[in-house]
Amino acid sequence: MQYSKMNDLDLAHKTVILRGDLNVPIQNGAVSDFTRIDRLKPTIDYLRAQKARIVVMSHFGRPKNGVDPAFSLSFLPSVLSSRWDAPVSFASDCIGAEAEEAVKALQDGEIVLLENLRFHSGEEKNNSAFAQSLAKLGDVYINDAFSASHRAHASIAAITEYLPFGAGLLIQEELDNLHMLLGTPVRPMAAVVGGAKISTKLSLLNNLVKKVDYLILGGGMANTFLLAKGIPVGKSLVEPDMLAETNQIIASAKDNDCQIILPIDVSCAAEFAANAPHSIHPAAVIPDDLMVLDVGPESIENVKEILQDCKTIIWNGPMGAFEIQPFDIGTNALAKYVAEKTKQGALKSVAGGGDTVAALDGTNSSKDFTYISTAGGAFLEWLEGKTLPGIAALMIDKKAA
Ligand code: AMP
Repeated sequence: MQYSKMNDLDLAHKTVILRGDLNVPIQNGAVSDFTRIDRLKPTIDYLRAQKARIVVMSHFGRPKNGVDPAFSLSFLPSVLSSRWDAPVSFASDCIGAEAEEAVKALQDGEIVLLENLRFHSGEEKNNSAFAQSLAKLGDVYINDAFSASHRAHASIAAITEYLPFGAGLLIQEELDNLHMLLGTPVRPMAAVVGGAKISTKLSLLNNLVKKVDYLILGGGMANTFLLAKGIPVGKSLVEPDMLAETNQIIASAKDNDCQIILPIDVSCAAEFAANAPHSIHPAAVIPDDLMVLDVGPESIENVKEILQDCKTIIWNGPMGAFEIQPFDIGTNALAKYVAEKTKQGALKSVAGGGDTVAALDGTNSSKDFTYISTAGGAFLEWLEGKTLPGIAALMIDKKAA
């Protein structure tokens, strides 16, 4: 099935509702990473060139009980305005009179950002009435929030029932690249999966062992695999209640000729803290009073050796607690190596996931990867082979299907 593309629609002088993902990371009250904003710019530029009036909507964080100033998007218009080099106003509600008036005031080429969609419970419930209230604001709906398209929310799914719709340029780029690089990957193929827990990536791991030649594990999740092999992991982050699932992944890997690569040595400390005194230990002998916070130097060399053989790599999740030094060493070393091999043309590399991209940016390596997806959950679900509700909603002949 084909999805509808915004560039096939007549958008001239139209009021276009654009669903973006402006759920940007904040540190000390300021945006700490502009990736999501910057990667929407081509779509914004395209729409402005069409002299469209642009109504941007997004979620931000996870407000639980309606309006909560801590999750307001009101800080963002000035940031958008400078990154997009365009006039951006703000509507303090995403539906109703406030939103309608703000939209009415727009001139051709101007942008209004609506307040956080999740201040209304109808958003996450994919509620039709809420979707209709959003749809009332414009003539055409464009989804360019790939990273939110794994969720059947009103601004992603239900709204397409009420307006002509199309995919923005970022979604098109994401889908094109993921299909090209991972649809029929050049082998051998490795997946590097790190991060905190197995429980959040269970179906990904189950799916990957059927697809890749090497599953390289790091981060907290590797601890549960070590425990499954009977190795005590001291004070480390571990999920003993996931041992049955872990053993099942190990068995499925065997059945599918996928080698699971675990850390050989690990960097440990007594507490999860920056610059905590640390020491390197064989992964088979983790001291009782310490916790694993990164992979060790031998593990890095081992992974590099394996990757010498590989032609395609996908990466999700850091190898260690990369936010605190020196437990970023494993992630940084591997990121640099993958970037280098990619630059040499020896490897196609794809990474995705908010933390992953932040981790790779620690060494400025991401620019040399073949493709960086803006998405975390959506990237993982795409990899799992799932149909993303937000993409299904953009299919041209979905009514006929
Ligand atoms: P995820 O969102 O699942 O990709 O997990 C990312 C988080 O995993 C980061 O915040 C890391 O600090 C954390 N992490 C990675 N390795 C470890 C580890 N060995 N122990 C504790 N946390 C870890």
